[in-house]
Amino acid sequence: MKILVTGGCGFIGSHTCCELLDNNYEVVVIDNLSNSKEDVIDKIKKITNKDLKFYKGDLCDKELVDKIFKNENIDAVIHFAGLKAVGESVKKPLLYYRNNFDSTLTLLEVMCKYNCKKLVFSSSATVYGNPKTLPIKEDFPLKTTNPYGSTKLYIEGILKDLYNSDHEWSIAVLRYFNPIGAHKSYLIGENPNDIPNNLMPYIVKVATGKLEQLSIFGNDYNTIDGTGVRDYIHVVDLAIGHIKAIELINKEKGIDFYNLGTGHGYSVLEIVKTFEKVNNVKVNYKITDRRPGDIDACYADCSYALKKLNFKATKTIEEMVKDSYEYAKRNS
Ligand code: NAD
Ligand code: UDP
Repeated sequence: MKILVTGGCGFIGSHTCCELLDNNYEVVVIDNLSNSKEDVIDKIKKITNKDLKFYKGDLCDKELVDKIFKNENIDAVIHFAGLKAVGESVKKPLLYYRNNFDSTLTLLEVMCKYNCKKLVFSSSATVYGNPKTLPIKEDFPLKTTNPYGSTKLYIEGILKDLYNSDHEWSIAVLRYFNPIGAHKSYLIGENPNDIPNNLMPYIVKVATGKLEQLSIFGNDYNTIDGTGVRDYIHVVDLAIGHIKAIELINKEKGIDFYNLGTGHGYSVLEIVKTFEKVNNVKVNYKITDRRPGDIDACYADCSYALKKLNFKATKTIEEMVKDSYEYAKRNS
């Protein structure tokens, strides 16, 4: 089976390419390298000892996407490509709507043309907004608080409309919680060039001496120690979730939505302490004001993914913080 992976050079995409190749899928990647580097392709080849095809270019470029489908006989698509920084999306909403919608619509139109109707889409727990109760189930009300989140929510709606118009589609929408960690080879991982927005890349930059101090955004939340609680999932577990999703959409038509998390919430302070203990390194931090738009706590009810996808994350928080740090030490 041949899978087109959009955004396959990125953090989650590259790990998913490795799992796909390890499971004997053929892989074709399209990526415009706006948030990744081309050498990731060679690293994936090295890790898996398998070949894959890479098209450097933009998913909004319809001629290119058409050429890929014409040349490659694609059976299914995993669609990761998109811009993902919440703060930037607030400052540049049109950039986010243009890139994330155009790329998705172009992809879907070309998929229709070539009668390829199997899709896995990267959504996010951000579509739940500030949930009233925890853990979060897939049928909770959906609400977003920033343009990035809105692109995910609207694309979910586009995919529902598409399925309603044509029941030949098989679509799995995966709502990721907070992916961290890195591949055990430490050849691929998350390494933002700019000052990171997310907690783990920031901690790693402080631990490796690239940044001076972590700001913990608020210690007056309604959580065990007052700092924000999130559901962190190892990126390799997340990648395996995509294999399960491909297996399901290959068998069943329909559209469905799945939380991919671990079901456990950890506070910022718990993450910092675990990181220090496991990696035997100090992380300087100070408590600052809350970050606007942040919520107290967020963690998944994973029972539906277990039931329907047979997916359960297995890696511990200790493995996650170790792998994040190891990757950064070797690649910064
Ligand atoms: P990433 O930025 O590392 O990977 C995305 C890739 O898409 C990059 O390699 C980028 O160059 C590429 N890309 C962006 N726009 C493109 C375009 N128009 N044409 C071709 N390539 C394009 O991000 P990631 O962390 O791997 O996230 C993958 C997907 O998962 C994204 O859709 C993201 O919104 C979603 N997601 C990520 C997280 C997270 O915390 N990392 C959480 C929830 C959802
Ligand atoms: N956070 C923090 N300092 C940072 C980055 C994040 O204290 O420099 C906190 C943030 O307030 C939240 C948690 O860490 O409680 C996870 O934030 P992240 O941005 O990684 O994920 P998201 O908020 O999107 O779930």
